[in-house]
This record gives sequence, C-alpha cells and structure tokens, in this order.
Amino acid sequence: MGASAPTGNQTGSRALVGMEAPAVTVETHLPGGLPGFTLVGMPETAVREARDRVKSAIQNCGFDYPQGRVVVNLAPAELVKEGARFDLPIAVSILRATRQLPAASPGSFGADLEFIGELGLYGEVRATRGCLCAALTLNHEGPPGRRLVAPAANAPELGIGPRARLLLADHLSTVAAFLRAPESAPLPSPPAAAPDPLASGPDLDDVLGQHAAKRALTIAAAGGHHLLMVGPPGTGKTMLARRLGMLLPDLDAERAMEVAAAYSAAGMPAPPGARPPFRDPHHSASPPALVGGGRHALPGEISLAHRGVLFLDELPHFKPSALDLLREPLESRVVSIARAGYRVRFPAAFQLVAAMNPCPAGRVCTEHTCRCLPEQVRRYQARVSGPLLDRIDLHVPVPPLPEHLMTATVDEAGPSGIDARRAVADARRRQHARQGGLNADLAGRRAIEVAGLTPAGRRLLERAASRFQLSARGAHRVLRSARSIADLAGAARVDTAHLGEALGFRALNWDDGLGAAVSQGS
Ligand SMILES: [Zn+2]
Repeated sequence: MGASAPTGNQTGSRALVGMEAPAVTVETHLPGGLPGFTLVGMPETAVREARDRVKSAIQNCGFDYPQGRVVVNLAPAELVKEGARFDLPIAVSILRATRQLPAASPGSFGADLEFIGELGLYGEVRATRGCLCAALTLNHEGPPGRRLVAPAANAPELGIGPRARLLLADHLSTVAAFLRAPESAPLPSPPAAAPDPLASGPDLDDVLGQHAAKRALTIAAAGGHHLLMVGPPGTGKTMLARRLGMLLPDLDAERAMEVAAAYSAAGMPAPPGARPPFRDPHHSASPPALVGGGRHALPGEISLAHRGVLFLDELPHFKPSALDLLREPLESRVVSIARAGYRVRFPAAFQLVAAMNPCPAGRVCTEHTCRCLPEQVRRYQARVSGPLLDRIDLHVPVPPLPEHLMTATVDEAGPSGIDARRAVADARRRQHARQGGLNADLAGRRAIEVAGLTPAGRRLLERAASRFQLSARGAHRVLRSARSIADLAGAARVDTAHLGEALGFRALNWDDGLGAAVSQGS
C-alpha cells in the first residue's frame, strides 16, 4: 500500500444506528496493480452496489476513475455501516486520493467537512435516510467547526433542526466545485422550516351522536390515557379515533424535533407543522413493522406515533406476538431492539387508541342478535384481554346510532370541538403545573397523592373497590382518569362525580361478553 497517506486522506461521514449517527472516517488507498475495488467495512452486496454508483458518478461528472486497484476503508470497522449514505464521501475520498480535489490535510479547508448522500449514476445526490439524526448528533457531540454536507433533497427535515453546521448538495459536481473554490462556489444552508398554518383535520363536530365516546376521547386527550372502544362495525370508531389527533395541542419545538428525528430515521417526511402524528397500521402488520426492527433496524409504527396517536382497529385481529411486544413500550415509552452484537433504541411515547367488535362475527351480529357461541366470544376477547388491556385506562362502548340520528345532519347536543380543544389545553396546563407530566403517567401511590380525594370521594372509591373487586392497580387507574375528569372541570380535588364517571369507563364486563356493556352505554 505504497500510496497510503493517513493524514490528508481522511474524509468524514456518519453512520446511522437507530437514531444515533456515530462518526465514520473514509480512507482511499491506491496500491496500483490490476483494476479492482475493495471496500472494507461493509456487507458484500452493499459494496458492489456502492462501487457501481460511485464509479459511474465520478466518470459522468468528467473526472477520471483510477486505473488500478482502489481500496476504500470505512472506520471504525466494528460499526455497522449499511445503505448508500457513504456514496458521496467515498466519491470525495477517491477524488482526493487521485489529486483531482485538494487533499484534506489537517487545518486545510475541507478537513472539517463531513459528507452523507446516496449518488445517482450521473452524480446527482439523492435523499438519504437519517440526515436529521446526523445533524443532531453532529450538533451534540461533533468537534467545533465541523460541518455536514447533506443531500439538498433532505432540506425539509434539516430545516427543522439546528442548521448552523449544515450545507446542502444536489450534485457531485457542485460538491467538487465547492471543495476547489469554496468562495466562488459556496453550498447553501437549509432554509428554516416554514411554520405550517394549523392543518385543518377532522373535527369532533363531524361525528353525530356518540357523546360517551366523544367524552372519553376528550378525557383521553386531556390526560394522555390509552383508550379502547368496543362496538359493532359501522358505529364510527375509526372516525372517532381520528378526532383524537385534533383534540391534542400542537407539539412544542423539542417534541416536534423528536418526532421529526424518528421520521428521518425511517426515511419518511415528518407530519406537517407541529401536529402530533397519527398512525393506523393494518392488523396484518408484522411485529417488526409495528414495533421496529427488520433488516435495517428501522423505527416501527409505535415510534412513528411517538408524541401522537397509534390507532389499532380490529385489535383482536393483530398477531398476539405483535401485541405482546407493545406491552413494554407502553410502560417504558421507548423500544429497544436487539441486533447481532448491538442494540438500537427508538422513542415510543405514543397514545394507544384501540377498537374492536364485541364478538368475532361483528359484521353479521348486532347487540341483541349475536349468534356467536359464548366460547367463540370468550376466545376472541381473550386475544387481547390480560396485561395489554390492563394498561388501557378508558374502556368505552360505541353502540349503534339511534334511528333519529342516522338521518340528522346537525348534532345539537354535546360540547363543540373547539370547546373540547380548549378544555383539553387547560387541563394539560394544570397537570404540568401540578406534577410536571400527564395524569396517565402517574405511577402507583402518586396517583392517590395527586388526586386529593374529598372525604366523600374516598368513601366512594372504597365502596367501589370492594364491590367491583378492584385491585390496587385498578384503583390507581380509576384515580388517574378521575384526575383528568376533575382537571377538565377545573376542580382541585377529585370528588364523587369525577370518580363515578371514571368508574363508568371501567365497567365493560369481559366475562359475560360485551353485549351488556354496549347496551348499558346507549
Ligand atoms: Zn356475534
């Protein structure tokens, strides 16, 4: 390796491991000999594809590709390096090693630059997964003065984060011109993301009737509670779930950035503005699609729903193995995925809204004419009962609409969507001032302390606990939702009315099937 010159022959880049972007150094050696391309530190198929793209991009931009052997080393060796993100730094490294671009010796211009980007065959720089993650890692732990050259196609996500260290490239030729003469051919910085005017989404007012369900949605939005809707098909469960998103306030800048980073890691555009995301994966979704993982360790639906809503319609039809994987993130708010030799973590602070039919033959049965065998109903409901159900604070029946509402166009009763949004925002402010978080996250005895039960409230809870055989956990859950109901009313202490309403959202009788509970709610 006669031509190896470690100093001045190093080009910076960043890998993507989950949402972290550790630094990678690209070095090119030209040992002469027969033509060939060796890339150290990447899987075999990825190497072949990278070679073809880099070689034709270099040639199509009017540069010479080296005649002899080309050895490219990506360090550190133990780091997992996947995907096409290293095309641009490899091309720059080869052009530097062949003196077609100035060497990046320490202190010289270009030594403090990092590059990320997939190359097209003609040298165009393509959108690349995880650019915002790289920008955030660089900003957090990169050496002072370091800057990142990233694909111009990723400008929208890069405009959300810190922009001072970022430069945009759309073509290998513009990068080369910049490295030769930075003053006369500067690369632009990403423009700040324009704040989106409040996206007008589905409103609570579009749904007729279903006052109990709308009320439950408002309570869920106020306290961040998980919610289960049970009712026959065609009663608007999906419509209702979509309205929860509109009840939630805009995300603050820090949370909007967390969401954008998760979408960047997935290679997807973030939801517009600062609205909480809404995800509704189909029940056929594989466990990796739902919780994350797969060949490239991508974030799953629960991380794409981070700081927003995960809606699981037809809950019992999801694979039990997939539902089991939800339990831990529901508590810990993160998901940890084991890979060979390393782990990746994705955020997963989502609010679960689940919906299901009361019986397996939901489409042909109505509440009074269910012909399913009790054993069939029991087996169907058992697919979701237990620990998962245990983590859902609010259970609400969504019965068929009464006749007079089927033909109505305007629903006079009930609070308007705007009023509900305002009440939710006020209730959230009260929780943050009191306990620095949402009621749904109150653990164990803390739920009792924060409730500030009135004496009558305490007596009611004791009576209910013995009559419904509530466990301590069950009592805490009731107290959490009662606290949110009291916060919606602006009440300092949880009283009997708040508790009574909260107990109503736990009254679905799972042992007898759900028919009784459904009719009781109408
Ligand atoms: Zn049935």
